[in-house]
Amino acid sequence: MRILLDNFSKSFGSTKVIENMRLEVAGGEMLALLGPSGCGKSTTLFAVCGIHRPTGGRILFGERDVTDLPSQARNVGVVFQSYALYPHMTVAENIGFPLKVKGAPAAEIRKEVDRIATLVQIGKLMDRRPAELSGGQQQRVALARALIRKPDVLLLDEPLANLDAKLRLEMRSEIRRLQRETGITAILVTHDQVEAMSMCDRIAIMKEGEIVQIATPAEMYNNPKTAFVAGFLGNPP
Ligand code: ADP
Ligand code: MG
Repeated sequence: MRILLDNFSKSFGSTKVIENMRLEVAGGEMLALLGPSGCGKSTTLFAVCGIHRPTGGRILFGERDVTDLPSQARNVGVVFQSYALYPHMTVAENIGFPLKVKGAPAAEIRKEVDRIATLVQIGKLMDRRPAELSGGQQQRVALARALIRKPDVLLLDEPLANLDAKLRLEMRSEIRRLQRETGITAILVTHDQVEAMSMCDRIAIMKEGEIVQIATPAEMYNNPKTAFVAGFLGNPP
């Protein structure tokens, strides 16, 4: 589903973080919000998620204006840096939780949990608890839980930041595979340019609350619009 931020602004008190941003994410696209720490990536993502209400502008999912809807009333799947799995629940219970909250019958929950566990390749871990899983496995569970309600959009905020280098590589391609297989529209927030370049269809590069350039990884690499973009892509932090 297409996502549109139309003239989106966000302030905290007198601090203006984002002013009049326009961002369109095409249906089925995976877009990176890339930029240094503090530039407003998470603020933008939280507005799409419904955690923050915009100070100005509108947010559309397809033709539907969701600007004033709380997070629960939007159909979003969210994975943040800390996976926040429920420690006392098994993997199966964690994944099925969003359906349980919705009041789905047990048989349907079981069926959907099986389907998604196969997709995310954690079918053998269903009876474990989060403490008995590796970081990468926990992240797969978090992805499964985010995807089980077949959300309109998958929102990922630095989802690989807590993983070691090897797992980070593995999960880059894994998340991309899941995004392609489900055809879901996705927004990835990251400060890691290699991650953005290797995972996403397009990159929106941000500086101090503004999108400086939005382009495919190849276009941006070959034709950076400003010295900031060139420097950011060329000099890994
Ligand atoms: P990023 O995710 O790119 O690192 P953020 O979107 O988290 O950046 O933050 C952008 C700016 O907004 C920062 O200057 C941050 O201090 C400020 N900010 C974010 N959330 C709040 C908040 N709840 N209250 C006040 N300022 C905030
Ligand atoms: Mg952030």
